[in-house]
Parts: sequence; structure tokens; C-alpha cells
Amino acid sequence: MTLEGNVVHEGKTKILYKEKPGELIMEFKDSITAMNGRLKETIPGKGEVCSKITEIIFSHLEKNGVNTHFISRVSEKKLRVKELEMYPIEVVCRNIAFGSLLKRLPLRSGEELKRPVIEFYYKSDELGDPMLNEDHLAILGVSESEIKEIRGTTLKTNELLKELFRNAGLKLVDFKLEFGKYKSNILIGDEFSPDNFRAWLENRPVDKDLFRMGEGRDTVIKAYLEVLKRLEKVVN
Ligand code: UDP
Repeated sequence: MTLEGNVVHEGKTKILYKEKPGELIMEFKDSITAMNGRLKETIPGKGEVCSKITEIIFSHLEKNGVNTHFISRVSEKKLRVKELEMYPIEVVCRNIAFGSLLKRLPLRSGEELKRPVIEFYYKSDELGDPMLNEDHLAILGVSESEIKEIRGTTLKTNELLKELFRNAGLKLVDFKLEFGKYKSNILIGDEFSPDNFRAWLENRPVDKDLFRMGEGRDTVIKAYLEVLKRLEKVVN
């Protein structure tokens, strides 16, 4: 059967194919979306760039003792990953006050936080991805020890990536992770790309905020390529 025949999931920006037991192929599409899919565009080359940034970041994390689902590259836009049983949550980690945090705390936009802030959200388009506390997480079946481990991994990831981005001349403002279980281990899944993190180059965004702000495809792809180029330089 062709790969296309084995689609197990198609989302807004990625397609997952089943190839063999315990493994998936994750294909990055050239699409970009915002506002829950209401803003949509195709940017040629974006899938390849996001797959490469994800590969660089996940390889760097693995090298430093953080487990991810990444196995290997398959082709320009495709990565081979471990098949996880995903937690239905998004984990956001913040270093700088921006985005939705400004609606919760009396902080200045762009202000450095005294300490990283971790937030949990329920992945649900229907409910609008509501924020969760630890009681809500327990109702969703995420235990206290799992929360502790997810928090620890997120903080370690943040420390490693803050430094990597700093070396690349970028400021890591915030990012979103997803987690899943593989043979009773908790691994980072999904992707790590400018679609899911905020990074600033000389205090200007080089991430999906450009698209959210209404910038055209050329500006967006140029920024994503700049991030890739800078990360490639510091990991090689
Ligand atoms: N984020 C994401 N997916 C989401 C929501 C947020 O990848 O569904 C990322 C977002 O790109 C940013 C971080 O999580 O890097 C924090 O986002 P925030 O809560 O500030 O929400 P936003 O301002 O993007 O609505």
C-alpha cells in the first residue's frame, strides 16, 4: 500500500502516516493557519523549513538527555517518529510576557519574567483550548507524577533551548510542547517550529506572529529560513 493510503491523521499543518507498528511518518504541509483556522495560507517551502527546524531541535534535545519522538529524516518534508499515545494537552512555557499572558497578569509586553511560567491547555477546538489547572488535568487522567515529569522536562527543554537560541542570536520568548507515552515513557511529540514558538531577532518576531500580524508569505518564509540558518550554524 502507498504511504498515502495509510493516513492516520490529517491536521491543519501536518499529515501522519502509519508505516510499521510503533512508528509514524510525520509530513509537514506548506500551509499556515491562525485564529483557529480562520486565517489560512499556503507558503511554498514552509513544510520543509519547519521539518528541518524540528529535526535540529529534537536532535539537540536528545543529545542533552531529553526524550522526543524523533527517529530520523525520511525526505524533504517527512520525519520518522515514534507513535505516541498523546496526552490531550498543550504545554506552554514562557520567558517573556507576551501573547495571552498579558490578559492574565499585570505585566508589560516584552517584559522578562522573573521565572519561567508553565501553563497547560486542553486541546479542544470545540471548547477553544481552555487553560487547565492540576485538578482539571486529574479529571483528564493526567496523574500528579505525570504532571511533575512533564513540568520537569519542559523546564529542562526551556533551559537548553534558551541557550541554543541565545547562541543563535535569537530570544526564545515562549513555546508550546505536546507530550505522549511510548512504552510507558513520556516523550515530547509533535513539532518544534516557528509555528509553535515565539522568537525575536533584535526584538522583532521571526515566527508565526508575522502571519498573525498580516505579513505576506515572503516575509514569513524569509523569517523561518533565517531561524533555520541561525540554528544550523550553532548546532553544526
Ligand atoms: N501556541 C501554539 N498553539 C496554540 C496556542 C499557542 O503553538 O494552540 C504557542 C504560540 O505560538 C506561542 C505560545 O504557544 O509561542 C504561547 O501562545 P499564547 O498563549 O500567547 O497564545 P496566542 O497569543 O498565540 O494566542
